[in-house]
Amino acid sequence: MNQEKINALRNFMTTFEASQDPALWDKLIAEELAEVREAVVNLAKELADVEYVMTGYILASGEDSVPVKRMVQLEAIAFVLENLCGHNTEMRQQVFQFVDESNLSKLDDDGNPIRRDDGKILKGPNYVPAEQTIREFLFGPMAKPAATN
Ligand SMILES: [Mg+2]
Repeated sequence: MNQEKINALRNFMTTFEASQDPALWDKLIAEELAEVREAVVNLAKELADVEYVMTGYILASGEDSVPVKRMVQLEAIAFVLENLCGHNTEMRQQVFQFVDESNLSKLDDDGNPIRRDDGKILKGPNYVPAEQTIREFLFGPMAKPAATN
């Protein structure tokens, strides 16, 4: 184990007269892992959001009319996505589909879109966030959001 980290924890434990009970530290590990899991869920969702709006941008511009400068930006984003998600295209496609289903739930009770002044589609009363579906897909049906402290 890294000596600098051991020294940091010794300092922390001394400063705060922290518990020496391994059971507490074990519980804290579980809490922190739950927070990591939630960060992964949020990252997967936000990456799919980026892919969603990138695709919308290309469709709105016309596939042959995307400015070169914007194309370079889009390729840079795609590069980040590839490196963060690896080449697991099935996982990316599934998360994208969950985001799509969530976005389609934004219609109002009459089946109409609700728009912001600039045209962005807003969430309606029947909106279903994608996070729980993504969480269950990635971590199993019993996965729950991390508790906040
Ligand atoms: Mg987003």
